[in-house]
Amino acid sequence: MNMNPDLFHKIAAIVGREHCSTSLEDLHCYSYDGSKQSFLPEAVALPDSTEQVAALLKLADHYEFPVVARGAGSGMTGGALPTAGGLVLACSRLNRILEIDADNQIAIVQPGVITGEFQQALKKYKLLYPPDPASLKFCTMGGNVAECAGGPSAIKYGVTKDSIIGLEVVLANGDILTTGTRTEKGVVGYDLTRLFIGSEGTLGIVTKIITRLQPLPEWKETFLLQSTSLQKSTELVARILQNNILPCTLEYMDRTALRIVSDLLPKAPAENIQAMLIIEIDGNREHVHDMVERLKTLTQRETHCSLQQAISEEDIREIWQARRSISPACYKLSPAKTSEDVVVPRTRIPDLVRFCETLSQRLALTILTFGHAGDGNIHVNIMTADRSPQESAKSAEAKTQLFQEVIRLGGTLSGEHGVGITKSSFLSLELDTTSIRVMRSLKNLFDPKNILNPGKIFPPESENDTAHFSGKIH
Ligand SMILES: Cc1cc2nc3c(=O)[nH]c(=O)nc-3n(C[C@H](O)[C@H](O)[C@H](O)COP(=O)(O)OP(=O)(O)OC[C@H]3O[C@@H](n4cnc5c(N)ncnc54)[C@H](O)[C@@H]3O)c2cc1C
Repeated sequence: MNMNPDLFHKIAAIVGREHCSTSLEDLHCYSYDGSKQSFLPEAVALPDSTEQVAALLKLADHYEFPVVARGAGSGMTGGALPTAGGLVLACSRLNRILEIDADNQIAIVQPGVITGEFQQALKKYKLLYPPDPASLKFCTMGGNVAECAGGPSAIKYGVTKDSIIGLEVVLANGDILTTGTRTEKGVVGYDLTRLFIGSEGTLGIVTKIITRLQPLPEWKETFLLQSTSLQKSTELVARILQNNILPCTLEYMDRTALRIVSDLLPKAPAENIQAMLIIEIDGNREHVHDMVERLKTLTQRETHCSLQQAISEEDIREIWQARRSISPACYKLSPAKTSEDVVVPRTRIPDLVRFCETLSQRLALTILTFGHAGDGNIHVNIMTADRSPQESAKSAEAKTQLFQEVIRLGGTLSGEHGVGITKSSFLSLELDTTSIRVMRSLKNLFDPKNILNPGKIFPPESENDTAHFSGKIH
């Protein structure tokens, strides 16, 4: 890559020559994410301290080049893509668990820590960091904070923002800001922690994360509920909660989702099965027992379904392997997909699922639905036969109609994947002009030169909005 050697030397002086690159092979490795789009950065740097991040941002502030933070690049909305060129700031060396304070049930981690590895490390302290995105084996805590990731356990334990009490953030001008507290409570000043969570790397680079932890539940039971009716299984979701059963997992898969992962399940579902729920209940043993009895009583009354308990660790492992494999397994159906993570009120899930079936027939597209039914967060995957203009137009039409319906049902366009570049043109469908104006003002306040992840969340105000950056490092 043809980069200004002086500027690259300055980057190298900060992180060390072996921890930055402009070689095309390296740049390709930082050019993509889960959105399947690709944009080459002009350079990549891998800092290993807050001070190095601050020095890089001071340099970016001075020379006005874009900086895009990157975790594992598993984001689904293009958040980590350097769409305007510039520097990718990869967090993979900021990967230390700095502290586990078991007595106060908090931990401090750097952003490059892999979420699943953090959870494993906590087990020996009998502690739990609940957010469990399906990507937990490879996504990072920094990416989770920036997207406010969630997973099956959100129904009981909440999403990332519910488990974070403080942050260290490097601002666009290189200043270091600490937010929040190490204590459970804290109301001094504005809640800047929440402002940064879900801000998709547009307001600052997160360099430390203070998490609140939970005691590891003493007991957990796992169930598969197989249903011959898509409609009735989704109606059951709200009834489970109305019956005072609070599962830590209430996941749903339609028959197409089931079909593509059926070989991974302990037992392949029968032909007439239209949907499946994974239900888990955790807590102390007596409490779990009570709720399990209530669940059994409730489901015995339903003629469309059968409830099976997973007995062995192996069965449970296979159930989760199948659930977490749905997203990549979609490619068994066809080579192109658009994944959306819309949310509707729980009681409107049956309406949403019915709408997706009609949409699928109307546009002659395969659309499969699965996801976190307990909190109304349904992953809608629109599959197209190929990437031809005709198929892409049909997929875009399906996405537009889906979003309009979700808003009509009182929902939101994204429960966990964020806006990035793939939803920015739909922002005004959900947010009113005052909200967008206030959000743009906040971005301008934190990052007046539009250095941090330019072109994300907000649609460009003009054609030249971010284009002027491209080539700054050249
Ligand atoms: C198979 C699969 C399953 C998935 N399942 C789920 C799921 O169940 N739930 C869910 O919520 N998501 C899921 N995702 C999406 C994705 O894993 C999450 O969005 C995750 O939080 C992204 O983490 P990452 O480390 O890959 O971040 P990246 O993709 O690298 O970056 C995501 C965003 O975070 C910003 N960022 C990264 N690090 C920092 C930092 N230190 N400071 C500031 N900004 C930063 C980036 O600039 C970008 O905007 C899934 C993805 C895949 C591929």
